Amino acid sequence: ENTVELLAAPDRDVVAAELTAEFENAYGEAPQGVWSAPGRVNLIGEHVDYTGGLCLPFALPHRTSVALTLRQDDRIRLRSRQSDDVFDGRLADVGPNRPAGWVAYAAGVAWALGVGRGFDAVVDGHVPLGSGLSSSAALSCSVGVALADLTGLPLDDAGRAMLAGACVQAENVVAGANTGGLDQSASLRCREGAGILLDCRDGSAHQIPLDLAGAGLEILVIDTRAEHSHSGGEYGERRAAVEECARLLGVPTLREVDPADLDRALDRVGTEPGGAVLQQRLRHVVTEIDRVSRAADLLRGNDLRTVADQLGALLDGSHESLRHDYQVTCTELDLAVDTARAAGALGARMTGGGFGGSAIALLSAGTSAAVAARVGTAFADAGLRAPQFLAAVPAAGAGRDR
Ligand code: ADP
Ligand code: MG
Repeated sequence: ENTVELLAAPDRDVVAAELTAEFENAYGEAPQGVWSAPGRVNLIGEHVDYTGGLCLPFALPHRTSVALTLRQDDRIRLRSRQSDDVFDGRLADVGPNRPAGWVAYAAGVAWALGVGRGFDAVVDGHVPLGSGLSSSAALSCSVGVALADLTGLPLDDAGRAMLAGACVQAENVVAGANTGGLDQSASLRCREGAGILLDCRDGSAHQIPLDLAGAGLEILVIDTRAEHSHSGGEYGERRAAVEECARLLGVPTLREVDPADLDRALDRVGTEPGGAVLQQRLRHVVTEIDRVSRAADLLRGNDLRTVADQLGALLDGSHESLRHDYQVTCTELDLAVDTARAAGALGARMTGGGFGGSAIALLSAGTSAAVAARVGTAFADAGLRAPQFLAAVPAAGAGRDR
């Protein structure tokens, strides 16, 4: 009798209507519009965005919405249905490392875009916060797409690529969170029924069809609800190690290391102080980028049904590399992945930055509930907090709802 419910994604129009009412309540006028941006899961390609790598994310149906009006003056007023922290300030209050808290993700985008005017906004997020599903990018990108739309910035893919850069700036500089760009690109550039092959070296994004349902598949997200912290020292240590490897190998990023030359590169970094750890970090990055290009080849050239097992094996390989070489998993993520595999997953891996957060499992259609129940039982048996589950259906990128 272990019944498991998947966290639903509310209807965009319903949320937009609610937010419009809430905006009127807060500010005494209807908003100029409502926009929203999705959270994401990364199918494969983890911890390679900051070294020119490849990743393959898709957008979740779970979104963050914002009702917003651009002001004539420099005042900024912000509210969120997920926070008691209300902001009422000026454009000049926004800059590197200020203001503190969630407001930085929203107001930081106006700063990064150089919008010379303030705005009023109310936010409602349906991406679980701090679960590795990128609620932070859903927030910054929802505000970003609203500001872009209202100030006449283009929202074609090139415009969205530029906007993603501004949202990265908001997170890195204003919120002080170290993120590489995967989340913002996914939230802004993905389309329904597809993922994107994001090339973090040249910024290009290619649509990759991902008709899971049509292939008799589904992807279950297991939010372990274990703490994760990107701004923590671990993330910085990984980035520093990767940069050190690139420096030792004389390449701008580890993307330049040909997988066929990996052994030679490993020998080179292995002679340095701390060489054993550098070797592990290097091996993860180079093999992971290679797994992403294999996954993209599988998805582009074939009927998904016929390559599901091979895709699953790549997901498994990714997780093992993140577990043993990059060392960014944790008890909860490993248990989620191991249990999902034992329950019949074609493949499973952590997704997002790691150290907690979420895992994904590639499953045969109709098996999510049973696999979720097995994972829930395993967590209970291990004395861990109950995980939360979501269905990951490739959904649309950021846009206007009302
Ligand atoms: P993730 O992006 O994986 O969800 P982060 O730690 O990067 O985790 O971002 C979570 C933070 O983003 C929250 O602590 C909060 O500051 C901010 N945030 C995201 N969504 C909202 C929201 N709807 N309302 C207020 N703050 C939000
Ligand atoms: Mg985030």
